[in-house]
Amino acid sequence: MKKIDKVMIVGGTHGNEFTGIYLIKKYQKFPHLISRSNFETFTLFANPKSFELVKRYVETDLNRCFKIEDLANPDLIKYEQLLAKKIAQHFAQEKIDFTIDLHSTTSNMGLTIIVDDNFVVLQLAAYLNSINPSVKILQYSSAINQKSHLRSLGNFNLAIEVGAIANGVLEAKLFQETEILIQQILDYIELSNQDKKPILPDKCTVYRQLTNIGYPRDENGEIKAMIAPELQDYQPLKKGDRLFLDFNGEEITYQGDSVVYPVFISEAAYIEKSVAMSLTEKLQIQL
Ligand SMILES: [Zn+2]
Repeated sequence: MKKIDKVMIVGGTHGNEFTGIYLIKKYQKFPHLISRSNFETFTLFANPKSFELVKRYVETDLNRCFKIEDLANPDLIKYEQLLAKKIAQHFAQEKIDFTIDLHSTTSNMGLTIIVDDNFVVLQLAAYLNSINPSVKILQYSSAINQKSHLRSLGNFNLAIEVGAIANGVLEAKLFQETEILIQQILDYIELSNQDKKPILPDKCTVYRQLTNIGYPRDENGEIKAMIAPELQDYQPLKKGDRLFLDFNGEEITYQGDSVVYPVFISEAAYIEKSVAMSLTEKLQIQL
């Protein structure tokens, strides 16, 4: 792995996800916790104004504002669109190599490492999974997301997504588990920088994002069904399984031919994006 010189830990990309925000506050108070011998670690509290409001964002979702063409578009002047330009400039000035973006979800996903197609970062995620098998690896498709996320400012990047946790709430267990993951990531980068990368498993299980499923809606655009109560994050969904129940007890079933694994089931923030869940395929990847 190319030597990493500068790591940025970001919290508060969403102002109502307190785990990352309070971790950043802690690290800003006790910087030795994240300092390592052969790279610099920075912190960023991305959207303090949305935190004051205890809202995901002020005007628009900051974590969808980082497409290269949007950053270069002078007509985009919403609060978060301007903030994104400032943050992107800061990353470029500091020459950040590696971004760790901290999030939480109302979905019951446990500990998830979100990665893109970068193999080096996938190896790191596989290492985290090998020391704690409850850590899941969720791989996003850049085709679906078009690099609109804040973390895409780092050549190497990942997001830590933890849940279930309500918005605007701190939860000690997930806070501590996130903290452990950050320590493990920093240790791994430190060792990799010395060419002493820990031994990796031969392969790892990855949940690769396929598509998002929206809520069924009536002719007025109103949601007309709820997610079936038995659906669970990272559990298989087969043809004929229930997906939604409408308010009269009618069932809508999954009709795809291949087995898929839903994630972000009922994520509160995705209702406005009309996403009821994200479907993934479960793959074994050779390392
Ligand atoms: Zn978030």
